[in-house]
Amino acid sequence: MSAVVAEKTTTLREGAFGNATNLACRECGHQVELGPFYACPECFGPLEVAYEFGEVTREQIEAGPANIWRYKALLPVPTDIEQSPNTEPGYTRLLRAHNLGAELGIANLWVKDDSTNPTNSFKDRVVACALSAARELGAKVFACPSTGNLANAVAAAGARAGIKTVVFIPSNLEHPKQVNSAVFTESLVAVNGNYDDVNKLASEIAGEEEGWAFVNVNVRPFYAEGSKTLGYEIAEQLGWRLPDQIVIPVASGSQLTKVHKAFQELIKLGLVEDKPYRVFGAQAAGCSPVSVAYKAGVDAIRPVKPDTIAKSLAIGNPADGIYVLDICRETGGAVEDVTDDEVRDGIVLLARTEGIFTETAGGTTVAVLKKLVETGQLDTDLETVVINTGHGLKTLDAVSGKVGPAATIEPTYAAFAATGLA
Ligand SMILES: *Cc1c(COP(=O)(O)O)cnc(C)c1O
Ligand SMILES: [Zn+2]
Repeated sequence: MSAVVAEKTTTLREGAFGNATNLACRECGHQVELGPFYACPECFGPLEVAYEFGEVTREQIEAGPANIWRYKALLPVPTDIEQSPNTEPGYTRLLRAHNLGAELGIANLWVKDDSTNPTNSFKDRVVACALSAARELGAKVFACPSTGNLANAVAAAGARAGIKTVVFIPSNLEHPKQVNSAVFTESLVAVNGNYDDVNKLASEIAGEEEGWAFVNVNVRPFYAEGSKTLGYEIAEQLGWRLPDQIVIPVASGSQLTKVHKAFQELIKLGLVEDKPYRVFGAQAAGCSPVSVAYKAGVDAIRPVKPDTIAKSLAIGNPADGIYVLDICRETGGAVEDVTDDEVRDGIVLLARTEGIFTETAGGTTVAVLKKLVETGQLDTDLETVVINTGHGLKTLDAVSGKVGPAATIEPTYAAFAATGLA
């Protein structure tokens, strides 16, 4: 399982990865067979899943289940994927955000609300795809280094699939995110260090142990494909159309690159009309290596030590950061960052305008949306989608100092009348 470069692997069952044909290097195009590989043996560039789709129709997709498996023909999963126990994530709500739009002066705004996934973040999508790969590759342990939400999703999916899980998190993680993992697994490991330290440790363990599938390390190419389903859903829910602008949070940058890949695939397959769209990336100022590079106009990402309340986005050395830069520049978008205070304001703004309680990542994305409008980087006349990737109940502390009872009173009408709230 732990191989970094291609070597002969165990034989796969027929159709184990659906329409996927091989892994291809994003940098040099070198091809590798499907397996637990993530780095190109020629240039160490990242490997990506390549496909031969054949014909895929809207009708075929619409006849599928109300979860990500309706897009199974576009994912590296077997055609009988629904038969294997999994958390069935996806097909979350795309909500028209009239109030938030009015507040920000955006005529046509939507929120893709991924906080309603089984473990309340978009990570259930990527984990479902990684679980399928782990199963097909005969992995005995399902594992991950995580900024929090991934650990929740891995622990839950593993429990449901009946596979042993071991999840690694930074020890300073928000308490609710720790409990949300530990409730599903006996093997939550808190590491004294930041995410980048935890990630390095995971790579080391992946190299030592046989039969471990680290979802975002040695089966990362399969994991990453799960984020495409966000793009497919948005297009389908808009009536098989692409939005004009989309704002996406950036941690490793995987989600943003895969939403773009999804849009491109839909165009190539003739499922949506080809049209220009702008992709915007959102980061917290306390961990904004991609935004800093974007603003400096450079191609290289300089790793940082994260210091922000947006812990789910706190990856100081983002694996797909350079591709985020490419996509945001090529599509006429941007990468922007906001302070922790703006993140808190973003959480409350979304809650008070749309009744959606987001975590710090969503607070970051909403605050960046606001800043993009204020700085004239976003066209307020164009149809815009903002992605909410996680749930506010996991990061209560972020706003518990900002919101609370307007008054504490004795149980009498006089006391209530005195508050002025009537
Ligand atoms: C992991 C995560 C992200 C970003 O994911 P990447 O694909 O690593 O950029 C965004 N929001 C939430 C809530 C997350 O947990
Ligand atoms: Zn290569």
